[in-house]
Amino acid sequence: MSFDGGVPQDDFGTDYEDCSGAVVLVVDDDPTMRLLMKDVLQQSGFQVMEAANGQLAVDLFNQIIPDIVLMDVSMPVKDGYQACKEIRSLSYGSYLPILMVTGLNDMASVKRGYSVGATDFLVKPINWVILGHRVRYMLRSARTLERLRESQNSNQALIDGLPDTIVRMSINGTVIDYKVGDDGSLNMDKKEVVGHKLDKFLPPSLAKEMNGLVLDVFRTGETTTKEFALKFKQNKHIYEGRLVKIGDYEVVCILRDITERRNAEERIHYLAYNDALTTLPNRSFFNDWASNRLSYLKQVKGYLSIFILDLDNFKQINDTLGHHIGDALLKSVSIRLKQAIDVVCDSQHDCGDECEVLLSRFGSDEFAVVFVHPSREIPVATIASELHKEFSHSVELLGHEIFITSSIGSASFPADGHDLHSLVKNADTAMNHSKRIGQNHFCNYSSTMNSRSMDRLTLENSLRKALASKELLLHYQPQIDLKTGKIVGAEALIRWQHPERGLIPPDGFIPIAEDTGLINSIGEWVLMEACKQMKEWLDAGYDIKRMAVNLSSVQFRQPDFMKNIRSIIARTGLPPSCLELELTETSIMRNAERSISLLHEIRDDGLVLSVDDFGTGYSSLSYLKRFPIDALKIDRSFIQDIEHDSDDAAITCAIIAMAHNLKLKVIAEGVETEAQLKLLREHHCDEGQGFLFGKPQLAESFVKLLISQLNGNLLGDLGQ
Ligand code: C2E
Ligand code: MG
Ligand code: MG
Repeated sequence: MSFDGGVPQDDFGTDYEDCSGAVVLVVDDDPTMRLLMKDVLQQSGFQVMEAANGQLAVDLFNQIIPDIVLMDVSMPVKDGYQACKEIRSLSYGSYLPILMVTGLNDMASVKRGYSVGATDFLVKPINWVILGHRVRYMLRSARTLERLRESQNSNQALIDGLPDTIVRMSINGTVIDYKVGDDGSLNMDKKEVVGHKLDKFLPPSLAKEMNGLVLDVFRTGETTTKEFALKFKQNKHIYEGRLVKIGDYEVVCILRDITERRNAEERIHYLAYNDALTTLPNRSFFNDWASNRLSYLKQVKGYLSIFILDLDNFKQINDTLGHHIGDALLKSVSIRLKQAIDVVCDSQHDCGDECEVLLSRFGSDEFAVVFVHPSREIPVATIASELHKEFSHSVELLGHEIFITSSIGSASFPADGHDLHSLVKNADTAMNHSKRIGQNHFCNYSSTMNSRSMDRLTLENSLRKALASKELLLHYQPQIDLKTGKIVGAEALIRWQHPERGLIPPDGFIPIAEDTGLINSIGEWVLMEACKQMKEWLDAGYDIKRMAVNLSSVQFRQPDFMKNIRSIIARTGLPPSCLELELTETSIMRNAERSISLLHEIRDDGLVLSVDDFGTGYSSLSYLKRFPIDALKIDRSFIQDIEHDSDDAAITCAIIAMAHNLKLKVIAEGVETEAQLKLLREHHCDEGQGFLFGKPQLAESFVKLLISQLNGNLLGDLGQ
């Protein structure tokens, strides 16, 4: 193949090559003939060498290599035929132009000459006028042939070097040549391919299509690419064929096995659009799918509803039981949701409806379901209740029985938004609303929700300033020894004196503080304030043993939690045994192993530990045995109905008995009536806390209770 821009041309456009200086070997036994030839050829610009017979010509060949030979036929020693044959057998002689000069103008001599490799004949008597031209044309065509050979060789080298399978075809689709590629997957017997039409070895439909493409390529001259699949020994291979027109008569098809590339692309595409854990479509897929449907629904005035579903307390399961259980749970939820969707779709189809559904996982414990209907509103409440049903029973996962609920929110097109972004945002707002009103709920989006979200955002912003603006304050609620009736402790309960909204109870802002991380600085402030207050009362000589402070699980999980407690104790000078930390079961159970070591550290420092709201969480006494705690606080919900509800009474009674068995003190929360107090006393409950003894109140009024006690008035005297 020549890349040098081609051969120079003369004024008439024909190929021209300057052959001057080329070496002509004149072989003739007739010295006059040699002399004449030499003279004429030199005048034409050639260099001339001479040999007097065939043998001398062959010998000379070992010293110089001429560009062309003029060889007399009849010579002594070695005639022209023999010499020509020998020259052809030499390494540089095979393509050399050899012009036989003969007076024997007969066919037999000509045939013999060609058979020994003569390139052409020059018949005597020689036309001296054209000899130079004749030699020049011979040289030129020899050089053209040489270039062609080189070009063919380099083409062949290129083809051999290509890793692809190459098929050369004629215009009618007959294979001219065939080379198997390195991958070997199209390794057919050359005999079965070359000289045959494509349908001999390709499936008929593919052969037909390829023939059509070959014709197209011939017609247009444009390279075409075709991808197709072939099956070999049960394995499907995908090929990419490039059809290129070569010259006027051939099309070359360069075939490459792209199976691996296609598989990798498919895998990448799959991973980009699917969630690896549950294999459900992911958020990107959801976005593409839903936007596509939404554009269509806008044209046909159809309906679309998005449900966002978030598992309640999933993090807790992950933290307490490990991520492998969390993962298994997510997989099981995805299966259960699919089942629920099938039920919904079946019932819709039964009504003759054609709705489309997509279930996807947005990430973590959040799933999204889109329902699409071209002409009817989606029954969101029915669907949500169907989805919720799947969560009504527990699942057994790797030996653990797990019960999980979900909060669901929905938003619909066209009622709640016209673009996907707003619809997802609104469904999310509705889901968060479900969470806030108590989890395991469903809320359909309403525009007031956004104002509620705004409300929360405003509250969040003002909470950030509350600490610095000294808007937070503590109330103290007395804790009574039920045997002696004396105040033994106080529980510090936080409030927020909001400049516009008035006194906000902890439930109104602690969750926000926990979500935003503000709980750490707020919690530290509570600890500091409560410890300072307790120290003040002790220094003033009041008869009180402990100050109880509530801890958020977020605070408890802080790495420098212990360091902070120690620093507060050191700074206030409060004896550690006067500080009781209240933790809920849930916060202890999150990362149980770390909790145990932390609780030991707390206890080793001499602080008191109690479990708050006992009975509302895991209520696992066997677990509690492993934790170094001092007291249980029975949740108010049990005490509330203790007089009327025999179950609550029995549970309270059992908790007290079991706690005593484990050498734990029991405090009853929310004691409001004398009857409750009486019952608790009968069951030997150690301490009580509730409106009956005193509401949470400011330090100034709490002091009055302590003073009154010093004067002999006991709160717990009531009903004794
Ligand atoms: P808790 O620790 O169980 O506190 C007892 C709650 O029950 C208090 O509500 C108290 O006012 C209320 N209570 C006490 N006796 C009675 C009664 O006889 N009847 C009724 N109906 N209620 C009674 P409060 O002050 O609204 O606190 C609610 C929760 O907020 C607390 O529950 C505690 O979990 C949390 N909390 C309070 N202060 C803090 C704090 O400084 N940090 C953290 N992390 N949480 C706090
Ligand atoms: Mg408490
Ligand atoms: Mg409590």
